[in-house]
Amino acid sequence: MKFISTRDQTPATGIDEALVAGLAPDGGLFVPEQIPLPAWPSPTASLADTARAVLSPYFEDSSLRDRLDELCKHAYSFPAPLRALTHDGAASQQDYLLELFHGPTAAFKDYAARFLAAALAQLRPADAAPTTILVATSGDTGAAVAAAFHGRPGFNVVILYPDGRVSPRQAHGLGCWGGNVHTFRVAGSFDDCQRLAKQALADEALRTRVPLSSANSISLGRLLPQVAYYAHAALQFHAEHGDLLNVIVPTGNLGNACAAFVARRMGLPLGEIVLASNANDVLPRYFAGEAYSPRPTVATLANAMDVGAPSNFERLRHWHHDDAELRGALRAFAVDDATITATIRQAPQRHGIVPCPHTATGLHVLEQLRERGDRRPWTVVATAHPAKFESIVEPLVGHVVDPPPALAETLSRPAFAEPLAADYPALRSLLIRG
Ligand SMILES: *Cc1c(COP(=O)(O)O)cnc(C)c1O
Repeated sequence: MKFISTRDQTPATGIDEALVAGLAPDGGLFVPEQIPLPAWPSPTASLADTARAVLSPYFEDSSLRDRLDELCKHAYSFPAPLRALTHDGAASQQDYLLELFHGPTAAFKDYAARFLAAALAQLRPADAAPTTILVATSGDTGAAVAAAFHGRPGFNVVILYPDGRVSPRQAHGLGCWGGNVHTFRVAGSFDDCQRLAKQALADEALRTRVPLSSANSISLGRLLPQVAYYAHAALQFHAEHGDLLNVIVPTGNLGNACAAFVARRMGLPLGEIVLASNANDVLPRYFAGEAYSPRPTVATLANAMDVGAPSNFERLRHWHHDDAELRGALRAFAVDDATITATIRQAPQRHGIVPCPHTATGLHVLEQLRERGDRRPWTVVATAHPAKFESIVEPLVGHVVDPPPALAETLSRPAFAEPLAADYPALRSLLIRG
């Protein structure tokens, strides 16, 4: 299996090189030359075994091929349960939740970050200079990447997050690692953090002194591992109900939703894929027929979805002949902050759960589909645990939301982040200082 760039200016590449490179040399995103159609794994297989089965076609020619089992056991060491929501207090036959928040940082990004970290550790030559993983984060990516690379020899992690724009528990999850993880709170927005990281990654003179890499959501090593939980849930659902799994995916950079799309293209039993956006409504506008037009990010309660130019859109375009075909493949809805708030407040009574603000966008889309008379089964993807956003969620539901054990463990550690000006020379000198 070879991988090509969405911009077609890069020769076909093996997966090992594509994982190490992150972005293709022509500035595009790596995609598989063809999407494979593997035999379905057993619906009773574990998440790790399902992951190995669906990922193995991509790793046929990889030096990691014989380690894939070990990588999957490491990355998928916590569950991704599919559960029925409630309706009037009884288990619903139509409404489901796919819980992707049982990892160390309580968000779905843990699965792929752990896979990528373990894969890059295997691919590193023993005598290579230490690599610095530079991550700009609006909250969740940084914590997942820090947790995944923490304590791994040969890697340093530098995290840039916008000071004051993440929840107190998100800030804690970014700053509680120490050791090889260095956390900076930047006096600026997420867009400033991303600009600084891009500047460093494009600075050839810097990169000859400090080997740099990124672990952002455009990496194949983030995209492909996410196919596994969709495969696992869809096979289980299909075996139990004889039906396709229709999913509603809270969306920012489109990484998670692209994985659902790849799972469907791989012939797995997924049906419709609907995107839930927050007030950053570039995708809903596009799918409603407007031209694709990235815009500046607006800050919302669902901060991990505050994206004005979804990077993975380039992959979706690559996989479709034209806009009409792409618009036929997915739907997208925008959900504003007032609606997120109302949805969280009503969710315990309506659905039997307390959702995080991201998951609430998906729940609201489910409610809209039901209001329009849609009677099919739908699964809302729960992208983070509500306890991570306690300052938003607790006042709305009127009680304390206990953190799950893995999150509680990180919250019990001290946390620290150094202040940093939103200024490239300041970042450059600290990267050189090491
Ligand atoms: C990252 C994130 C999202 C958005 O996922 P994308 O892959 O960027 O579309 C949604 N919810 C939570 C909690 C996240 O951390």
